[in-house]
Amino acid sequence: MSQRILIWYRNDLRVHDLLTLKEAVQQSAAIIPVYCFDDRLFDKTSFGFAKTGNYRAQFLIESVADLRTSLQQLGSNLIVRRGLPEEIIPAIANKLKVDQVSYSTEVATEEKQVENKLKQVLLAKKIKVNTYCSATLYLPQDLPFNIKQIPELYTNFRKQVEQKATIKHSILAPNRLPPLPDIEIGEIPTLADFGLSTPKLDGRGVLNFKGGETEALKRLDNYFWKQDCLKDYKRTRNGMLGENYSSKFSPWLALGCISPRYINDQVMKYETERIKNDSTYWLIFELLWREFFRLMVAKHGNQIFKITGMQGVAIPWKQDWQRFDLWRTGQTGYPLIDANMRELAATGFMSNRGRQNVASFLTKNLGIDWRMGAEWFESLLVDYDVCSNWGNWNYTAGVGNDARGFRYFNIAKQTTNYDPQGEYIKHWLPELASLPGDKVREPWKLTKDEQKRYGVRIGVDYPRPLVDFFKSVQANKKIFEAATIVH
Ligand SMILES: Cc1cc2nc3c(=O)[nH]c(=O)nc-3n(C[C@H](O)[C@H](O)[C@H](O)COP(=O)(O)OP(=O)(O)OC[C@H]3O[C@@H](n4cnc5c(N)ncnc54)[C@H](O)[C@@H]3O)c2cc1C
Repeated sequence: MSQRILIWYRNDLRVHDLLTLKEAVQQSAAIIPVYCFDDRLFDKTSFGFAKTGNYRAQFLIESVADLRTSLQQLGSNLIVRRGLPEEIIPAIANKLKVDQVSYSTEVATEEKQVENKLKQVLLAKKIKVNTYCSATLYLPQDLPFNIKQIPELYTNFRKQVEQKATIKHSILAPNRLPPLPDIEIGEIPTLADFGLSTPKLDGRGVLNFKGGETEALKRLDNYFWKQDCLKDYKRTRNGMLGENYSSKFSPWLALGCISPRYINDQVMKYETERIKNDSTYWLIFELLWREFFRLMVAKHGNQIFKITGMQGVAIPWKQDWQRFDLWRTGQTGYPLIDANMRELAATGFMSNRGRQNVASFLTKNLGIDWRMGAEWFESLLVDYDVCSNWGNWNYTAGVGNDARGFRYFNIAKQTTNYDPQGEYIKHWLPELASLPGDKVREPWKLTKDEQKRYGVRIGVDYPRPLVDFFKSVQANKKIFEAATIVH
């Protein structure tokens, strides 16, 4: 009789390029795919935000539904349950007399704890466990160093992998899968089941993100092949408005709806069939950032979540809720910050340029505990990825392993460089829409006459700046340096 392999789906919600599936197919095993909505993901964060807010939850539900459809089309199905995987998976394994459980490994603390608990239960029942890495370009065995030796600086990491390691090709999805044994497949929960409301679609958003492998592959096809945007990626990637300034792959990458190795294969195909240039290289360069943060978490464990960060520096951050609320609702009086924070609240997405600016403002101008910002992002971002989010926040707050002293973003300069006509700001701040492009950057400088002329009352229709930009930077720099400079 053939083996029975249960595939526990996690952040690898796809059928292409999936090693768990490949192994089971190669062994002609009876395959039992399971997804478990882990209730702990729907708890509160330590600062009291919904851990998985409704943008993320909706995207997850759509991704699981799409996976179920794909598996059905292949002749199988997806068992869906809600509860604790370390209890549910062994129960299904028992019922269906499973020989092996396979899953993709994660690196962050909470995910690892679940894995370890599950593994213990399964091994005690003499059920074999096989794990794979599904989230990265490089498989652990392809890296030129072991986890403990991974360079602490991104550039060193990138140079070494570029010189010494090869990215494997992605694997095609199977043509057919064996039918599921007789078992209740279970309903996919709704947002209401988690006490969440359906997010309203805001037409101003960059893209109507819909979860699932089908949409992920469609997005790649559109961005690379139909709209031919990859050739300009390096030039456009710092934009903030519209569908195509960047790939927008991140939400699908976060849940594993698309494989980074598949993206790499498609970049290589594009380079052969269309053009190879610094843009095609740069997309992989950015994917390597994602890879780097994941490996840093694998190396440093839960350091990344601590207030002292990966570097272990004790900066006296403030937990000023009044100011934090103004930041998160987009009411700081700095238009670039407010526009980005309102985009996040209205859509669950924000550009990379925006994220860097708002994170810098929260930490370097307001001196607020960076973990409050990280948790707010965790709750809202449709592309929330534990390593990329906490890694980038460590980095921007200056507590990351790659910290280079007190660095901050000059918001006015950033606006001039990346939103010279104020189009992005006006898109998200309708109260400033009547201002000419050159006035929108620093609206507090409007004279009384100008305020009348444009119908914008500063301090009434739009807030005055919450802090003086340079004074606040200087004050936080002092605090930062007192904590980090060894005399
Ligand atoms: C404070 C902060 C928090 C962030 N939180 C997240 C997060 O939770 N999830 C997330 O996926 N990204 C996060 N990022 C990184 C980056 O902003 C997003 O990956 C990017 O904006 C997603 O848009 P895109 O897919 O169009 O990116 P593109 O520019 O098209 O890049 C392609 C891919 O490369 C990867 N990538 C690009 N930049 C980075 C980066 N700086 N770090 C890690 N990976 C990168 C992403 O997987 C992205 O999809 C964060 C950045 C900052 C500054």
